[in-house]
Amino acid sequence: MAIQSIRLFGDPVLRTPAAPVVDFDKELRKLVKDLTDTMMDAPGAGLAAPQIGVGLRVFTYYVDDQLGHLINPDLDLSADLDEEGEEGCLSFPGLSFPTPRAIRAVAKGLDMHGEPVTLEGTDLMARCFQHETDHLDGILFIDRMDSAQRKLAMKAIREAEWSGLTPPAVKFSPHATGGKAL
Ligand SMILES: [Zn+2]
Repeated sequence: MAIQSIRLFGDPVLRTPAAPVVDFDKELRKLVKDLTDTMMDAPGAGLAAPQIGVGLRVFTYYVDDQLGHLINPDLDLSADLDEEGEEGCLSFPGLSFPTPRAIRAVAKGLDMHGEPVTLEGTDLMARCFQHETDHLDGILFIDRMDSAQRKLAMKAIREAEWSGLTPPAVKFSPHATGGKAL
């Protein structure tokens, strides 16, 4: 097990677009393992490399008992949205908010060996693909909310006990999210 500290909102790494993976080597396989171990420990439904301080386009997911990873993802989204679905994020421990997302997503990318992969997801899986791919672009779920919802979210974030802490001083294990956080 190689559980890493999860970076919290406020850490600049979460706002930095990640670079495409070019080397499908032992280091990459270790990164996928670290992401998987850290996601499962949290527990979370997804985790992107920038959330453990690594600026590469890699995420892991664990939704509906399906565990996997995707590298250099490219998404194709349905036009129909789930406006009301609650979404959490391991970088915002203990908080979740209604966040609009496409109901279906097709995610194309590569596996850790550089082989092409196509994943199809609906509902939480589709939400996870969108949330994690956003992380790779430096986009956070608060950016996807309408302004009224974002205002409520920012108030809750400011009041959260972890708010303003400078990672990686504290390691969080936000069990309260019920495994829904991403
Ligand atoms: Zn997240």
